[in-house]
Amino acid sequence: MAFHVVGGGLAGLSASVALACAPGTREIVLHEAAPRAGGRCRSWHDAGLGVEIDNGTHAVLGANDAALAYLARIGASGRVAWLDAGIDFLDLRDGACWRIDGPVDLLRLWRRGGSAATAEIALLARLLAPRRDAAVPAGLADATGLGRLAWDPLVRSIMNAAPGQAAAAPFAAALRRVLRGGRAGMRVGIARRSLAHCLVDPALDLLARRGASLRFGARLRSVGISGGVARALRFDDAEVELAAGDQALLALPPWELARCAPGLAPDCATSPIVNLHAVLDDGADDARDIAFRGLVGGRVEWVLRRGRVASATTSAASDIAGLPRDELRALLWPEVARALDLPAGAKPLRWRAVVERRATPLQDASFEARRPGIATAAGNLLLAGDWVVPGLPCTIEAAIASGVRAGEEALRRSGKARE
Ligand SMILES: Cc1cc2nc3c(=O)[nH]c(=O)nc-3n(C[C@H](O)[C@H](O)[C@H](O)COP(=O)(O)OP(=O)(O)OC[C@H]3O[C@@H](n4cnc5c(N)ncnc54)[C@H](O)[C@@H]3O)c2cc1C
Repeated sequence: MAFHVVGGGLAGLSASVALACAPGTREIVLHEAAPRAGGRCRSWHDAGLGVEIDNGTHAVLGANDAALAYLARIGASGRVAWLDAGIDFLDLRDGACWRIDGPVDLLRLWRRGGSAATAEIALLARLLAPRRDAAVPAGLADATGLGRLAWDPLVRSIMNAAPGQAAAAPFAAALRRVLRGGRAGMRVGIARRSLAHCLVDPALDLLARRGASLRFGARLRSVGISGGVARALRFDDAEVELAAGDQALLALPPWELARCAPGLAPDCATSPIVNLHAVLDDGADDARDIAFRGLVGGRVEWVLRRGRVASATTSAASDIAGLPRDELRALLWPEVARALDLPAGAKPLRWRAVVERRATPLQDASFEARRPGIATAAGNLLLAGDWVVPGLPCTIEAAIASGVRAGEEALRRSGKARE
């Protein structure tokens, strides 16, 4: 019996790892279209910058149970740098600074925001317990002090969509989890060296050690389904026939799945994320030197400085994603310079803007209502991906949770087929 996993992003990797780590031996084949794994969470050596960069800064939270379990399983827990002292924020409008190191700091931030406690409590209650099919309330930034300083930026970075557009239910679920986790749940972790070093390469090493086959450059074109059973996976370079008892897991983004297997994925709009990477100096590249700062009141949400590279992230960036690169730099660099307290007029040595137009689906309420879950009508075909399971924002946590769930379900089904 063979397990075919298609898509080597975090969903496909975590599904393959779950299959490889289960007791017993089995044939596992991971098929990936690109020459490298990682998907929307990837790294490469950028010849123009002369350094390794990520497609964009990715943060995990202490409350991300599935992501933490995956990191432990692939032996990469130590490859995350936890920002244990909390996160420093800067308000670009008035220069105010504060630190968030746990829920108590939100109380302090409320005092800074200056809104009445009753207004803040009413808004928080709406965010935590929304109507099922609602959007996060529009105009959060004008609603209350915490709306402006905390909730509006948090919605954009967790949902990659603006308030008024982002589905309320998955944001509420994430917020409840983070707040319930207290200080530990709010901890932010960043890949110490790169996304590949932390989240991808250790999984590939584990899979290779356990005998899984890794097929790069293998693009799925279509899935042959008949009589309620997936019969064949047709790739550019080969056709894989599925024998009785074989299981196929499609860990593709919805726009790719819709091409390969029409009807399995909902139509969805997408939402871009922009990252500006800047090499600051030509000194030693000591990646242990990590600084992270949150910004409010501008377009950049986070600035990560890792060694001599600063990376600035703007989520929900549909209004700027189409700008010429020089204009993006002119818009974002002054915010980066302020976040890093650089002297006036400081310029990066080299820079690159990475625009991920399809960073996530546009996670509005209509998309949320159409997420399918991991099962399909075919008994030997499962889905995984950040977009698949309802109720979770499209993030690393959702990708990994869906992958593990699909891997475990495939094992259960293959066990049944054998009986
Ligand atoms: C710039 C940016 C910043 C982000 N920041 C964060 C963050 O801070 N925190 C967070 O939790 N999440 C963040 N995310 C979201 C996170 O990256 C995604 O949720 C996650 O990586 C999705 O993983 P996935 O495996 O579901 O999908 P993907 O990563 O899209 O993986 C799908 C894989 O399938 C492959 N593929 C596609 N078509 C085919 C085909 N036909 N045949 C074979 N293979 C195919 C692709 O090459 C890819 O490797 C960010 C995303 C971006 C783009």
